[in-house]
Amino acid sequence: MNHWLGLAALPRLTDEQMAAYEISRAKARGHALSRMTVTIAAFYLSYALVDTLILGDIVWLSLSLRFGLILPLAFLLGWYQSGMARSMRAREIATLCVSMAANLVWCFVLASSHNPAVLHYFYAAAIFQMVVTIAIRPTFGLAVWASLGTTAINYAMIGLLEGVTPVYLFYHLAVYVPILVLTLVASHQLEVERQRAFLQLHENEALKRELSRQNDELERLSSTDPLTQLPNRRGTEAEIARLRRLLTPAGLADSAVLIIDIDHFKAFNDTYGHGAGDECLKRVAQVMRRELPDAVHIARLGGEEFLVVLPQAVPARAEMLAERLRRAVSALSIRHDNTGDRNRRVTISLGVACGSIATDSALAQLLQAADEALYAVKASGRNGWQLAAPAPEPARTNAA
Ligand code: GH3
Ligand code: MG
Ligand code: MG
Repeated sequence: MNHWLGLAALPRLTDEQMAAYEISRAKARGHALSRMTVTIAAFYLSYALVDTLILGDIVWLSLSLRFGLILPLAFLLGWYQSGMARSMRAREIATLCVSMAANLVWCFVLASSHNPAVLHYFYAAAIFQMVVTIAIRPTFGLAVWASLGTTAINYAMIGLLEGVTPVYLFYHLAVYVPILVLTLVASHQLEVERQRAFLQLHENEALKRELSRQNDELERLSSTDPLTQLPNRRGTEAEIARLRRLLTPAGLADSAVLIIDIDHFKAFNDTYGHGAGDECLKRVAQVMRRELPDAVHIARLGGEEFLVVLPQAVPARAEMLAERLRRAVSALSIRHDNTGDRNRRVTISLGVACGSIATDSALAQLLQAADEALYAVKASGRNGWQLAAPAPEPARTNAA
């Protein structure tokens, strides 16, 4: 960190960061600037009382200029500040301009007085310096310009005061210059703190975004089968949970599941090797994914077994999709010489069951039924599908 005469250096912000900083500053500063303007205006108008007490000869001039000129200007400024589309910089410049106008009016009122107390009172000129740097809290650059303006106004007008001597000017400068320097130092420090806080926030948010991205990726990885890139068992659980959130129990009642198993896959591995087996799994998974509508969930349950979940599906649709999958895999024509049956290619068998997936026990029953249907297909020669008989309706008791 660079320190120059004990001052912390402003952090180096990129153009993009600077633009974001200005936007974030506008949000936080908009209301604060308006509220501070009201406070400063009230303070300024109440000083009409001090004019009256210290300088009896310019009371009407003070009242008419403070209330007749500066107060309407303050209202105009309030309207200007409320324009949220205006940049913060434009609002700050307008506030500084009105403050300098008030400074000029105050100097003019004091220059019009013949009261010797005016020389004591003129030390209050330093208050305007504090207003343009610390109270309004503009950016450091604007604070420097406004300080130059305010100092120029005060020292141009000081010559018009009655009874000003070089010694008085020296005393005045002895008070004013340290206030000028120290308020600018404070303004600089405020800017440094503001920019550092912004950068910290910016970094924290970038970190949070990265963490959330990594979490999403981890979530995706943990529910994806790395070989086929299909969802795994966890992915299916998440899908079932999603469907249960989305659909009513009545909507979930007419669902279907398809359990799919590659035929004679052990023999395929034994004949062509595990690598070829993996390749076969990938191709079968890919073709099944392609054959199904995007919204239909298909997962690899493990080994050479897959599961399709069809919410709101009539049995005819489940059967149609089962046949479509069977044909598609067979059409891949992946050579398999050791099937032990007439097929010389990789095929699949499917067990289909229709029913409710609304609860875990209903789902387990449905999977059990689909598994039994699959077993029946295996027993009757493979490369086919079977629809499980519908589960019997739960018995109704007619209690008198
Ligand atoms: P069936 O027609 O009755 O289903 O017979 P099958 O040989 O397909 O069934 P079985 O359950 O006897 O064998 C499944 C084989 O799947 C055993 C295992 O070597 C293989 N397998 C399971 N997971 C993977 C895998 O990730 N990669 C490869 N290459 N093979 C796998
Ligand atoms: Mg199996
Ligand atoms: Mg098998």
